[in-house]
Amino acid sequence: MSDIPETMKAAVTHGAHEVRIEQIAVPDYEPDQVLVKVAACGICGTDIHIYEGHMRPMWPPFYPFIQGHEWAGVVAAIGSGAKTDLQVGDRVIMEPTVGCGACATCIRGDYHICENAAKPDGGYKLLGHTANGAFSEYGLAPPNNLHKMPDSMKWEDAVIVNQVVIALHALERGGVEPADTVAILGPGLLGLAVLQLVKMMGASKTFITGRGYRLGIAEELGADRTIDITKEDPVEVVMNETDGRGVDLVIECAGPPEVMRQAVDMARRGGRVVLEGINGGQETAFNTDRIVLDEIAIFGGRGSPNCYPRAIQIIADGHIAIDKMLTHSFALDDFNEAMRMFKAREDGVMRVMLTP
Ligand SMILES: [Zn+2]
Ligand SMILES: [Zn+2]
Repeated sequence: MSDIPETMKAAVTHGAHEVRIEQIAVPDYEPDQVLVKVAACGICGTDIHIYEGHMRPMWPPFYPFIQGHEWAGVVAAIGSGAKTDLQVGDRVIMEPTVGCGACATCIRGDYHICENAAKPDGGYKLLGHTANGAFSEYGLAPPNNLHKMPDSMKWEDAVIVNQVVIALHALERGGVEPADTVAILGPGLLGLAVLQLVKMMGASKTFITGRGYRLGIAEELGADRTIDITKEDPVEVVMNETDGRGVDLVIECAGPPEVMRQAVDMARRGGRVVLEGINGGQETAFNTDRIVLDEIAIFGGRGSPNCYPRAIQIIADGHIAIDKMLTHSFALDDFNEAMRMFKAREDGVMRVMLTP
């Protein structure tokens, strides 16, 4: 393509806390890859950990590295061997997980838990984590990882898709039913996405726990009962307000061991619990008698296999309040300020995006 420049602007990570805005070569695309001109890229909580070097050497495996895994843009060029209906000029949302495509879990469709994920040359990639992402003017992805955007969809919507897909998968794990009572632990972006989805799916009563301004946003989004963990005991409140039964479904979106325990403690007999938070390998003590005797089903959940097309439809249909979730936008040049603001969780900050 003649209108693709030789070089592009990128926020390049050279080490922990060391990101510089540089002019670098536009990446060469392989025959099975698509080159996309990036329009928007969200900054995610995981990006903070990568930026600070906490996840080395897994994420990133090398420096210099380009972070950014929540991006969308316009198809600029398509590799000669790419099997795809995409065309240059299509607007697309990138899905970061690339399975090896050959192992048993990938063949089952569970490419997010690919058996070859830990093998450096196993074919699995997490774009923006183990391979370059797109805090840059151009990004690369295999065609199957690019999902077409409806014309009505804005770039802000596209950035938020990346949380809605994870929320959707969490609910597939836990199985939400009409009239379920649901408790959501943690009012971050994921918790707020879960809240809106369970309301759409017919939950009868929703509880959400946390603290600070995010609880206020949860209330605006229609949470029936917000529980400020600095003032109230979440398990006590949930038990009191469900006639001592507990809720049908708990979605844990926080991570600390005490929150994991609360999740199990507030589930009803026969209830379901989905754990989405990670906490760096800390152990959590559960009363296993309660899990056995009350038949509590506990699921782990991560990622978003096969969820993009449906999440895109849900957003296009107006079920998600994007303006309450995507709160700030910065030029690529202002990457360091955007990161600082997101990290500091200044009042009102939810998702921050860059617009290369
Ligand atoms: Zn993310
Ligand atoms: Zn695989």
